[in-house]
Amino acid sequence: MADYDFDVLVIGAGPGGYVAAIRAAQLGLKTACAESRETLGGTCLNVGCIPSKALLHASELFDEAAHGTMAKWGIKASNVEIDLGTMHDSRREAVKGLTGGIEFLFKKNKIEWLKGIASFESAGTVKVGERTVRAKNIVIATGSSVTPLPGVAVDQERIVDSTGALELAQVPQHLVVIGGGVIGLELGSVWRRLGAKVTVVEYLDQILPGMDAEVRKESNKIFKKQGFELRLSTKVTGVTRNGDTVALTVEPSAGGQAETIEADVVLVSIGRKPNTDGLALDKAGLAVNARGQVETDHEFRTSVPGIWAIGDVIPGPMLAHKAEDEGIAVAENISGLTGIVNHAVIPNVVYTMPEIAGVGLTEEEAREHGEIKVGKFPMLANSRAKTNREPDGFVKVIADARTDRVLGVWIISSLAGTMIAQAAQAMEFGATSEDIAYTCHAHPTHSEALKEAAMAVTGKPIHI
Ligand SMILES: Cc1cc2nc3c(=O)[nH]c(=O)nc-3n(C[C@H](O)[C@H](O)[C@H](O)COP(=O)(O)OP(=O)(O)OC[C@H]3O[C@@H](n4cnc5c(N)ncnc54)[C@H](O)[C@@H]3O)c2cc1C
Repeated sequence: MADYDFDVLVIGAGPGGYVAAIRAAQLGLKTACAESRETLGGTCLNVGCIPSKALLHASELFDEAAHGTMAKWGIKASNVEIDLGTMHDSRREAVKGLTGGIEFLFKKNKIEWLKGIASFESAGTVKVGERTVRAKNIVIATGSSVTPLPGVAVDQERIVDSTGALELAQVPQHLVVIGGGVIGLELGSVWRRLGAKVTVVEYLDQILPGMDAEVRKESNKIFKKQGFELRLSTKVTGVTRNGDTVALTVEPSAGGQAETIEADVVLVSIGRKPNTDGLALDKAGLAVNARGQVETDHEFRTSVPGIWAIGDVIPGPMLAHKAEDEGIAVAENISGLTGIVNHAVIPNVVYTMPEIAGVGLTEEEAREHGEIKVGKFPMLANSRAKTNREPDGFVKVIADARTDRVLGVWIISSLAGTMIAQAAQAMEFGATSEDIAYTCHAHPTHSEALKEAAMAVTGKPIHI
C-alpha cells in the first residue's frame, strides 16, 4: 500500500461505480470514488431510471383516475386535475432521498468521495479536481450520456433530451419523440397520459429494437390503441425551432417524399454513448473500440493491468442492474474472489403500461441456434389480470426442443417487470420449461401466466 493512496479508486458513482465501491469497501479494501456530479447515483438515480419511474407512476395514477377503469369499480372521481409542480417536486424528493442514501452508504462504508472530474495521469495515477491520487486498482465506471442527433441542437426547452423531458414545466400539446426505443416510449407515455398528443418517429420498421419480434409487433398495437402515433420506417432530416414551435422534416427511411411535422416539444432519444471524453485514457495506455467503449475480458479487466471497467462504458446492454452486478463482480475479482456476471441472463424491462419484459434469447435468435419449442399464454386468460381488467399481453416461453432448457422468456403484462425475475432465476439455474410448469405458483397471480406458458411448451396449458 505504501505507494498507493487507495486499494481501489472507482471513477463514476452510478449504479456500476457506487455498487463496486461499496462491495470493495465491504471486502476490506481502502476505497475512493470519484464523481463529478453534485450528487451520487449516476444517470440512474439522478436523470434516468428513478425520476422516469416517478413520473411514470404519477402519470399512471392520473390516467387511471381520469380515464381508467375506476368508474367500472364504482369509484367516482370528478375534476381530476394535474398539478405538475407538485408532481415534479415528488420526483425530485424521490431522487434526493435515494442519492442521499448512497452518500450515507459511502460514509457508513468509509468510502471517500473525491469530488470532481477524474482524468488519468498514468496507468495508476488519476487527477480528480485539484487532487492527484494513486490507486492499486482503478475501475472505470463513467457510464453513458445522450447520443446527439447530428445537426439538432438540444435547448432543453422545446428540443429536449431525456433529461429535459423529465423537467418539462408544461404538458406539451404535441410531443414528437425521435426514436422508438425504451426511453422514448417511457417518457412518451408519461406525457401522453398527462394529455399530450405523442408521435414517435422511428427509423426502423418497428419499435423496441432488440426485443422479440412478436413482442415488438404486439407492443406496437397496444401503443397505437393508447393513442400514440407511430411513424415507422421514417427518418428525421431536420429539426428547426421557430419560437414556441418546432418543425421537423421527415421522409421515408428508404428515401422519398419529405413532409413537415409541427410540434411544440421534440424529444431526441436515439440512444446513449459511452462516457470517455476527458478521461485521458491514452495516458493510461488505453484505447476505446469503434463504438467508443472500453473493452474488458470476462472478469472486467482492461488491457492495462490494474485498470478495470464496468457498466454502460463497456459493451453490453446499457442497464442499471447489469452495471450493478458488474460492480459487485469487479470488486470481488479485485479482492481475489471469483466475480461472475452471466450476460446471457440480463432481464430487460420497458416500464410502460402494460410493462414489456424479456430475458435470454428472442424467438428469432433461438431459432438460429437450433430447434425450439414455444409456449404462449395470453394475459386475457389469466384470472387475476382478467379480474383487474388488464387483458393486454401474453407470456412466451422459448425452450430448446431437445433438452427443454429455457432459452428465453418474453412478457407483456401490467406486472411484466416483476414477473421476469422468476424467469431470470429459473434460467440462471438452468431450468427446463417443465421445471417452471411444475412449480406451484400462488393463485390468483399474474405469474400463473408464466406457469401456463411453460405448460404450453408441451401443449398442455389448463386455462385455454
Ligand atoms: C431516462 C432514462 C431512464 C432509464 N431507465 C432505466 C431503467 O428503468 N432501468 C435500467 O436498468 N436502466 C435505465 N436507464 C439506464 C441506466 O440509467 C444506465 O444503464 C445506468 O445508469 C448505467 O450505470 P453506470 O454506473 O454504468 O453509469 P452512470 O449511471 O451513467 O454513472 C456514471 C457516472 O460517472 C460520472 N462520470 C463520468 N465521467 C466522469 C469523470 N471523468 N470523472 C468523474 N465522474 C465521471 C457521471 O457523472 C455519472 O454520474 C435509464 C436511462 C435513462 C437516461
